[in-house]
Amino acid sequence: MIIDVITIFPKMFSPVIKESIIKRAQNKGLVKINIHNLRDYSSCPHKKVDAPSYGGGGMVFRMEPLSAALEAILKYKIYPKRNKDSTKRIILLSPKGKTLNQKVIKKFLNYERLIILAPRYEEVDERVKGYLIEEEISIGDYVLSGGELPAMVFIDCLVRLIPGVVSCKESIKKESFENNLLDFPHYTRPRDFRGLKVPKVLLSGNHKKIEEWRRKKSLEITKKRRPDLLE
Ligand code: SAM
Repeated sequence: MIIDVITIFPKMFSPVIKESIIKRAQNKGLVKINIHNLRDYSSCPHKKVDAPSYGGGGMVFRMEPLSAALEAILKYKIYPKRNKDSTKRIILLSPKGKTLNQKVIKKFLNYERLIILAPRYEEVDERVKGYLIEEEISIGDYVLSGGELPAMVFIDCLVRLIPGVVSCKESIKKESFENNLLDFPHYTRPRDFRGLKVPKVLLSGNHKKIEEWRRKKSLEITKKRRPDLLE
């Protein structure tokens, strides 16, 4: 899979994409992540990419640099007539978008290439929607200062689902939200920390009993904290 991000703060991405699981996924050739600086596509002398909102308000990302960046990445014209290409998806991070969850993120595994637009300020000229942008994604009902962190959240939860990225496939299958359940509790050494003991069943070596206990705990936690998942 190829992931392209369009941003005015490309440096913000390095600490995340050059560490840990995402770094290993790139090294294994399972994903390629390209970070593009939107300012490189501005035709203004000062590389400006925004302008004031008509009617008053803050600054808005302009269409020209956005379409120039998208067309340079895709290597074809996308406006006014766009190629139908079901292998690619152009995504805008926005508080007004569809809320991201595990089901939503899994759908993006079906694409070969994702182009993610991470704006700032008031957002983008509304006219990009429907022409340049194919999907709007929100990471929750709150407003951040920019789309960079949402883009990193999106990339992180997507990349770990690409087959081969996480070495233990089984652990992914048992994570929260799989089968509409939250994860069971985990314990590690020592067995007794100042009187706080690990449940005996986990030390029993009886795998059937351990599985039963974990399933019971998953159900208990889900019922208590997220009954909506069980409906
Ligand atoms: N004027 C916008 C509104 O009220 O909906 C808020 C713009 S916000 C200050 C700047 C950028 O941060 C947005 O364009 C978006 O890319 C990103 N952003 C902020 N909150 C977000 C969220 N919950 N999910 C996804 N992106 C978000």
